[in-house]
Amino acid sequence: MPLLRATNNPRRLNEIRVRVIDDPNINAANAGGGEFQVTTGLLQKANDEHLRGVLAHEIAHDDLGHVARAQTLGTGLNIGVILLEQLIPGSSAVTPIAGALIANSYSRSEELEADRHGVEILRRAGYSKEVMIGTLTWLMRTSGGGGGGGFLSTHPATEDRIAALKKSG
Ligand SMILES: [Zn+2]
Repeated sequence: MPLLRATNNPRRLNEIRVRVIDDPNINAANAGGGEFQVTTGLLQKANDEHLRGVLAHEIAHDDLGHVARAQTLGTGLNIGVILLEQLIPGSSAVTPIAGALIANSYSRSEELEADRHGVEILRRAGYSKEVMIGTLTWLMRTSGGGGGGGFLSTHPATEDRIAALKKSG
């Protein structure tokens, strides 16, 4: 997981938990304490680049110590490591556990900060900021406006976020 090694405060792989949530909406969350959540909707619809962008953003929230003001949404399902391993090579070292999606609400400045720091993490891992711009553009197109529990409902103002990233170095 090169992204996880590119953080300011690298976590050990055995501290990382990825919880797969059975939810058709495209979403992901940082649940705190090294736990990340992804929906089955995200795993099914995202290509590798989009998944990398979403994870970089969530890992950035974790790395920056953004506090999860959590609200539980839906129910989780343990679908095992097989699907995840296809999408995130090396994730068989990661433990998927059943549970419910955490809908974090971050402030707008925390979102912009996570986008910027996500880009920094991507760069350290050898990817360009276009990965994050492409991911946000894809999210805006596919999760249509932000209703219904998708990524944009928990990570709002995507057009502003794209514009801010384009302006940044
Ligand atoms: Zn966010």
